[in-house]
Amino acid sequence: MMPSPVASYESIADSLRQRFERSYGTRPRIFRAPGRVNLIGEHTDYNDGFVMPAAIEFYTWVAADRRGDPVLRVESDQFSEAAEWPLDGLSGAPRKHWSDYVRGVAAVLQAAGCPLSGANLVIHGQVPLGAGLSSSAALEVSTALALLSVSNYQLPPLELAKLCQRAEHEYAGTRCGIMDQFIATFGRSGHALMLDCRSLDYKLLPVPEEARLVICNSMVKHELAAGQYNLRRADCEAGVRLLQQHLPNVRALRDVTLPDLEKHRDELPEVVYRRCRHVVTENQRVLEAADALQSGDLARFGRLMYESHRSLRDDYEVSCRELDLLGELAATGEGVYGARMTGGGFGGCTVNLVRADAADRFQRYIMEAYAKDAGKTPEVYVCSAAQGAGPWQS
Ligand code: ADP
Ligand code: MG
Repeated sequence: MMPSPVASYESIADSLRQRFERSYGTRPRIFRAPGRVNLIGEHTDYNDGFVMPAAIEFYTWVAADRRGDPVLRVESDQFSEAAEWPLDGLSGAPRKHWSDYVRGVAAVLQAAGCPLSGANLVIHGQVPLGAGLSSSAALEVSTALALLSVSNYQLPPLELAKLCQRAEHEYAGTRCGIMDQFIATFGRSGHALMLDCRSLDYKLLPVPEEARLVICNSMVKHELAAGQYNLRRADCEAGVRLLQQHLPNVRALRDVTLPDLEKHRDELPEVVYRRCRHVVTENQRVLEAADALQSGDLARFGRLMYESHRSLRDDYEVSCRELDLLGELAATGEGVYGARMTGGGFGGCTVNLVRADAADRFQRYIMEAYAKDAGKTPEVYVCSAAQGAGPWQS
């Protein structure tokens, strides 16, 4: 069984402080930002649609203190190699090094006019790296908070989230949407967050106490992922172009209703039609899921999760054998409201909405059953919706 991440917060903060003091000889301030899981609304972000992530109780922690000279230095628990830059030498192309994220955040803050002081940083990551739980955004947002605090400078949270997204674009070379940095910044304990990716309006929605978010990592990442992602985006753009000829007000698939789509079905290539149908119905499901949470209807929320998975599997074709297996196992588990693949697809994780009193048993069941069928041991994390980024006070 995985230990609860919450139980170890105090000891993480203590050992991070000690490590910082050993490395730099001063007492740091500590900041943290969470990973996240997307409950519903997949492949909708780049179609100006809706997503519904929740922050999870795994955080990236940053200990920081000011330096007398204009230098930024950073160490991470996860990597042996430290990095150091003069503050006037932060810019430059991605180097495919973990420290790109830190350098990138510092560089975009500077470019946005924040007068950064020299700083020492030590990073401790609780969010599994590269598992689709957004350790990258957690690293960016926690680093941004640390650098701003050390420099005695403040930014509105939305600005901070957008700058972190820019850092990921320009310094890590990943053209991500805003969701990850947004939820790391705005997440609220006990709540999911529905985000309108066009307006960036958001709504916090209570996740009932009796539910847990159980994340199952399939431990596979198929090579297909990046290429297929670009193809799906191109299919969506093709759909918009064709639909615009009949529906001039359509700017993105977000503006298309299912009756509209059905009416013009014959004008679209079959594959493009199915891609569009996923996005259009998925947006509708997010709105319905928000309604379900608002009224505490977990059974309805769970049904929408299963439907989302089917749509991603059959219409959008971004699932894979392992994710389907995890979903099928969940459907036969006790106390499970719903399950779906989460993230871009072709591997990564499923998210399961499970009754709190059944979560530990579900975890054991999935570990055993998946290992037997897939020949791989999954990682299973039992989470609740957690608080977004901030300073750590102990
Ligand atoms: P994800 O965001 O899904 O975890 P990404 O590939 O977007 O996956 O980001 C993972 C990368 O972020 C890591 O390979 C590493 O470069 C960087 N990273 C994340 N957390 C840490 C950490 N605690 N220390 C150092 N680098 C980290
Ligand atoms: Mg990432």
